[in-house]
Amino acid sequence: MTPGPIPPFPESLCHRCGAPPRLVTSDRGSVFIYCPLLQRYPAQPVVACDVFVPRADTC
Ligand code: SF4
Repeated sequence: MTPGPIPPFPESLCHRCGAPPRLVTSDRGSVFIYCPLLQRYPAQPVVACDVFVPRADTC
C-alpha cells in the first residue's frame, strides 16, 4: 500500500476534526489542510476553532 501524505502540523486540532478536513498536496509536494466547513486553508496549527466537530473515532 502506498502511504498517504504526511500530515502537517500534527498538533493541529484539524486532525481530530470530523469536518472532515482534506489533505491537499501541491505540485511542489507541500501538504496543506483544507477545511470544507470554512472552505479555505486555515492558518496552522489550529489550536481553537468555533466550528470544530469531534471525529467519531476520537471520542
Ligand atoms: S472545522 Fe476547524 S478544526 Fe475542523 S478542519 Fe475546519 S478549521 Fe480544522
